[in-house]
Amino acid sequence: MNLRAQDAAQQAAGRARARMVERLRAQGIADERVLAAMMQIPRHCFVEEGLAYSAYDDTPLPIGHQQTISQPFVVARMIELLRAGRELGRTLEVGAGCGYQAAVLSCLASEVYAVERIRALLDRARENLRPLRLPNVRLKCADGNLGLPEAAPFDTIVVAAASPEVPPALKAQLAPGGRLMIPVGAGDQRLVMIERQGNVFKETRLEAVRFVPLLSGTE
Ligand code: SAH
Repeated sequence: MNLRAQDAAQQAAGRARARMVERLRAQGIADERVLAAMMQIPRHCFVEEGLAYSAYDDTPLPIGHQQTISQPFVVARMIELLRAGRELGRTLEVGAGCGYQAAVLSCLASEVYAVERIRALLDRARENLRPLRLPNVRLKCADGNLGLPEAAPFDTIVVAAASPEVPPALKAQLAPGGRLMIPVGAGDQRLVMIERQGNVFKETRLEAVRFVPLLSGTE
């Protein structure tokens, strides 16, 4: 692509992104910092080139290895709920996939640790994130069921894959006052937010969602 064509493509992507953000606002996302982060991160850089034209639609898209990039509304909604009334602080993302949500989180959290069980996807995430030069994101190939003990505790944990139960290690790695968001359920799934107050874990069931399953081990 010559420079002028590149410029035009950038501008078109910027306009598509602005429309996505307006749609998120219309769907009820009210946290301006979340909307600004979604405006900042070029979502089309996280999908395969052939799918770039639909990168800003409100839909999950395939990223290979039978996995998907999460729907923009769900990313925005989870982060908005996790932020409500406080800062994200030290944040763990389980299920980095192509790295999109990690990039959005990096605009809002002091540190982001993102783990992914499929090594090839993690490599892709690394490549996607490199040009954005986000200094506060660390990626690791690991089974997120176990959390990330070497970096715990976390003020925020967000899981991008659904589990029949909340993995105990994730609860244990929450800092006091910390919040964990995870889709729970084998068939029908629901977002669940867990807030740690001392050694009490308050659980709130939220809206119905559809995520890929949280699996075990790495590959
Ligand atoms: N956060 C991504 C969504 C990726 S889909 C985004 O921004 O679009 C969920 C990801 O979770 C998949 O890549 C899948 O491989 C990963 N995953 C599933 N089980 C996991 C586990 N136990 N540990 C780490 N990652 C897991």
